[in-house]
Amino acid sequence: MTQTYRNFIAGEHVAASSGDTIEVRNPADTDEVLGLAPASTVGDARAAIAAAHDAFPNWAGLAGPERGKIFYRAANILESQLDAWATELTREEGKTKLESQREVVRSVDLLRYFAGEAWRVGGDLLPADTPHTLLYSLRVPLGVCAIITPWNFPLSIPVWKIAPALVVGNTVVFKPASATPIMGIKLAALLHEAGLPAGVLNVITGAGGAIGDTLVTDERIAAVSFTGSYAVGQALYQKTAPRMTRTHLEMGGKNPVIVAADADLDKAVSIVAAGGFALTGQACTATSRVIVERPVIKEFTERFVAAARKLQVGPGLADGVQMGPAVSKGQRQTDLEYIEVARGEGAQVLAGGGTPDGSQYRRGYFVQPTVLANLRPDMRIAQEEVFGPVVGILEAGDLEEAFAIANNTIYGLTAGVVTNDLRTAIRFAERAEAGMVKVNQGTVGASIQAPFGGFKNSGSGMFREMGKGAIEFFTKIKTIYMDGQ
Ligand code: NAP
Repeated sequence: MTQTYRNFIAGEHVAASSGDTIEVRNPADTDEVLGLAPASTVGDARAAIAAAHDAFPNWAGLAGPERGKIFYRAANILESQLDAWATELTREEGKTKLESQREVVRSVDLLRYFAGEAWRVGGDLLPADTPHTLLYSLRVPLGVCAIITPWNFPLSIPVWKIAPALVVGNTVVFKPASATPIMGIKLAALLHEAGLPAGVLNVITGAGGAIGDTLVTDERIAAVSFTGSYAVGQALYQKTAPRMTRTHLEMGGKNPVIVAADADLDKAVSIVAAGGFALTGQACTATSRVIVERPVIKEFTERFVAAARKLQVGPGLADGVQMGPAVSKGQRQTDLEYIEVARGEGAQVLAGGGTPDGSQYRRGYFVQPTVLANLRPDMRIAQEEVFGPVVGILEAGDLEEAFAIANNTIYGLTAGVVTNDLRTAIRFAERAEAGMVKVNQGTVGASIQAPFGGFKNSGSGMFREMGKGAIEFFTKIKTIYMDGQ
């Protein structure tokens, strides 16, 4: 029987007040219905906000380490169930089992990292201007935070927002993406099993278009943390502006990798293939443009095309599969449309370019790893985010031209260079208009202790995720002047 999942509000599992649901299917086998999740209403969103608001004073009043211990316990439970979580993640999102295992391990690490912050977040003791005066600052929680996430990392992105928000004493209303609501509901259950009090984390599923406005504009919301597309993030920013609600947006990318003429080409191919096709290209940090210096473009292209053709596409739970399906029919459609746009603009399809043949692919949203050549920087395919396994090759006459092409985008999330020359590496690190620069490393992947976020239209820019930045976003500073007499 199909499992029916429920919202999690004030510690209770509740259906949407309308009774409506969203059907969740396995993107590798659409005959498999994974469950029904609530299609929440504005009333449900308000109930979740009210629960978080009521829970705030007691939760914020706990000693930080008491909060932190809950996240250590959650990490231990998640770690002990790694395989089951990875399997569920693959069934819901489609990525390979190995990619899901990495996401679960990362989520365990994030829970532990932010649990530890509960012992560290404090403030500064400052020299006072007068004797017998204590002058210090404290980081204090903001209140109720709305957290809205995409489907491509349905566990780790929610964890990297929810854990820092909660350990410092905020309460949360969390809306997962409609393509992957089950992971979000399971995460709430995990944190409650670990000891989170009722109302501290509330999860409501349903269409962003139906409940998003309430989540970001309700006067009880103190902060909004969003990850998703530029179009949705930009519109959301307009809605939080009138109340000056603290808002953090992490959005799309059109991430370049430059292959310098001196690069180790085997290394360059593996970096670009991993960046472009891992996670089916559905990473905000995915490599979508490779800019190659003219003397090596022929050799690089041949080797890269061979690597793309060799990739084993299939259901993420099957042995030997290196690339799973697109997450949804809509995303596959977008991928295929962009390949057609590229063809129409004069790009040459050197590998892939459509859906794979074979009965094993019929019930899933599979797309071939696709390599496009002859791109010009002004083409749509060189400018717009696809969010699929599609990599375009651009030629550069020299490094100066390569740097200019790399920066010629409205996005600025990650940018990479493959080179054996330290001067090229340093010049690129200085010149790249991107929040994260990778030298001889793939564009995908980020350390949880390091600032994560984009420049330009990839991010709202004032704050960073993960590391210290997450704590800064979810706290405000109070300065205390205290005279002893
Ligand atoms: P999306 O369509 O922008 O959706 C993101 C989230 O916003 C979903 O939960 C969505 O709900 C919700 N939403 C939709 N309309 C809304 C509205 N009017 N008000 C409030 N919330 C609303 O993005 P996606 O397709 O899930 O994810 C892919 C995008 O995320 C890509 O652009 C990718 O680059 C970006 N991304 C960025 C990062 C980063 O850290 N920079 C990381 C991962 C992904 P529904 O699902 O119900 O529509």
